[in-house]
Amino acid sequence: MSKYLVIGAGLFGATFAYEAAKRGNRVDVIERRNHIAGNVYTKKIDGIQVHQYGAHIFHTSNKKVWDYVNHFAPFNRYTNSPVANYHGEIYNLPFNMNTFNKLWGVVTPQQAQEKIDEQRAILKGKRPENLEEQAISLVGTDIYEKLIKGYTEKQWGHSTKDLPAFIIRRLPVRLTYDNNYFNDDYQGIPIGGYTQIVEKMLASDLISVQVGVDFFDRKEEYLKEYDHIIFTGMIDEYFDYRLGELEYRSLRFESEELETDNYQGNAVVNYTDEKTPYTRIIEHKHFEFGKGDKGKTIITREYPKNWQRGDEPYYPVNNKENNLLYKQYKELADKEAGNVIFGGRLGQYRYYDMDQVISAALNVVKLELGD
Ligand code: UDP
Repeated sequence: MSKYLVIGAGLFGATFAYEAAKRGNRVDVIERRNHIAGNVYTKKIDGIQVHQYGAHIFHTSNKKVWDYVNHFAPFNRYTNSPVANYHGEIYNLPFNMNTFNKLWGVVTPQQAQEKIDEQRAILKGKRPENLEEQAISLVGTDIYEKLIKGYTEKQWGHSTKDLPAFIIRRLPVRLTYDNNYFNDDYQGIPIGGYTQIVEKMLASDLISVQVGVDFFDRKEEYLKEYDHIIFTGMIDEYFDYRLGELEYRSLRFESEELETDNYQGNAVVNYTDEKTPYTRIIEHKHFEFGKGDKGKTIITREYPKNWQRGDEPYYPVNNKENNLLYKQYKELADKEAGNVIFGGRLGQYRYYDMDQVISAALNVVKLELGD
């Protein structure tokens, strides 16, 4: 039996803690915020689960991970179908026949493909090397200008020419009339919210959880006290930014309770023009098919901002320079922190989705604790 210290009570830390305790190990979990569940934290207000740190829609093609999360909560049949609002014009997302029809009046997949081919000819067959070229190559210039450029530059604070192509490949492009945002086999939102999942993961008698505790207040003592450590915070902060700061994108959420049943008719509306200062508005009740108190709704506007020390980091900015710096931190970790496992979006500096976080944690469990 070993004793583990897990820093961070988000999905990575909680999955590891659950599996370690299941195998008879003691686990102490410390969390800087005053609640568990990291960014998947949800809280019931006016009879609905409010996603406190932005929309979280669980989707995966990994059957093992899907079965795993379903063990902690029942999931509803929510299918993400955001709409884009460009100066009051409404388009379906992801980019599909509904979008192409509204934009160009085309009706058949062949007509849509011809239009895209015509517009992407400006690339002259060049292999896309950045997000702008990748976007034009996938959907042409009109969609790039109306639905991608403004949103992306607000979201990341960089020109689309300086962003990696893979970010836009997260979105499907379909020549069918299908507004499902994800291509995955399984999708849904836990009935009763996400917090219960992490609560159940951490419920073992072998696990102790302390919230409102900052690892960095007593780093040296913790390192002396524990042989085995799982760290899910920012890897550069762990090393006191010794090699320089990694870049993160932060967010400011502005929530409002409104005296109406239905504010925007959809869970997620993206504002894709460059002027509107927020990227999207989510209306939480629509994740649960309109559940909640009559005559009330809660909406949240999401404002991206540059991360500065003290802000919450939400996204790693995985461009070449940052990935290179991360590699140097990883080498430092291997050299100087052999007994520390770095995990999750921040520990591994990767744009992980929830299912990938769980899968990565289960892989670490396998290496560290066996089957
Ligand atoms: N994106 C866009 N327009 C949209 C939605 C997304 O251009 O209306 C681009 C944008 O660059 C964004 C990326 O697609 O960063 C990935 O979007 P996703 O919805 O996966 O982002 P997340 O929900 O993780 O913030």
